Amino acid sequence: MTENEKRIISLKRAEELKSRIKDYTMKKNSIKTGFTHSEMIKENKRRIMKVLNASEKEWDDWKWQLSNRITDVHTLAKILNLSDEEIHQIDMIGKKFRWAISPYYASLMDPDDPFCPVRRQAVPSIEEMVEAGEEDPMAEEFTSPVEGITRRYPDRLIVKVTNQCAMYCRHCQRRRCIGQKDLALPMAALRKCVEYIRNEEEIRDVLITGGDALLISQKNLEWLLSELHEIPHVEIIRIGTRTPVTMPQRITKELCDVLSKYPPIYLNTHFNHPMEITEDAKKATDMLCSAGVVLGNQAVLLKGINDDVHIMKKLNQELLKIRIRPYYIFHPKEVVGTAHFKVKVQKGMEIMEKLRGYTSGLAIPTYIINAPNGKGKTPILPNYILSWEENKIELRNWEGEVFYYPN
Ligand SMILES: *Cc1c(COP(=O)(O)O)cnc(C)c1O
Repeated sequence: MTENEKRIISLKRAEELKSRIKDYTMKKNSIKTGFTHSEMIKENKRRIMKVLNASEKEWDDWKWQLSNRITDVHTLAKILNLSDEEIHQIDMIGKKFRWAISPYYASLMDPDDPFCPVRRQAVPSIEEMVEAGEEDPMAEEFTSPVEGITRRYPDRLIVKVTNQCAMYCRHCQRRRCIGQKDLALPMAALRKCVEYIRNEEEIRDVLITGGDALLISQKNLEWLLSELHEIPHVEIIRIGTRTPVTMPQRITKELCDVLSKYPPIYLNTHFNHPMEITEDAKKATDMLCSAGVVLGNQAVLLKGINDDVHIMKKLNQELLKIRIRPYYIFHPKEVVGTAHFKVKVQKGMEIMEKLRGYTSGLAIPTYIINAPNGKGKTPILPNYILSWEENKIELRNWEGEVFYYPN
């Protein structure tokens, strides 16, 4: 075959490849992101600052953001256009399930759209009253050798340092811990956690989480990091926090100075929709990267928010642009008050099917179902092995082409 003939075949194949993602190419620019909607966000911010009587300096201060979380429906009604019915419902649900929204996160919401994906994650919905699900589907209470610790795997564990968050996700898996009050794990209990880890040589990976790990005081955080860093068998420290999404003001220079002292630190956050990827979020992730922190994302598949092939693809691609590597997509758990977010497993599989091959491998997280009763994270993915034979296996590729491979 001549060079020219090979080139013609390659060009034809390139056209075919382009047609594989034509549906996405046509759609992707119409998916809202925090960047495409930066003007709306700025306008919302101005309005919210006025309602809360805040200065620019206060807005940029995470402690101001935290102590000015919106927790009553009358303030919320000055920020979003709510019907009388919604006002009544939010007020009623608030008596059963706690809610709070940082002014920053509120500024990402479309004030006129009740189906806004940011709003649906933060503003209580009447659907939360549906009786279904369990308080603690992961049976965490049965895997806690010491107050604050959950150990479900041989070589790693989580320490829940506080129940506080900048915003209480409506789909929270630990709703039962949120209560009506903010509770940080007392110093004495934190000491016992460290002692437990020091005595368990198998533990090489400690995940500090909550609530939101970055809502404890800087002093306690630094104490914990330095203690863990000193334990020889603790190889890596992980932090679970949604602040890059809900309150990026938390990522200060002082915090980054502390984090840079205790490498390697892996920080997993929780973006669920491209609308959450904003200029402020990027500023925060740039600072974390400069401090040597490695960033990952754990999304939750949620009905009406991201249960869509194109939105999920866009989310993962936008995450890579701000240097966050998609890590997990969790199938939603059967938690009380979250039934309206449930989706079929087929939906998750359809999304995974349309990622592999169609976009960068870096943009493909692992899809996880948490086995009931704390039996562990279980990965599920489309099946690429069609059959096994003694000397060969039958496979199919991302385009559905079937082939054999020697075994
Ligand atoms: C999710 C989780 C971990 C971390 O799991 P990885 O798959 O290693 O990210 C550890 N302990 C508990 C209890 C968890 O729920």
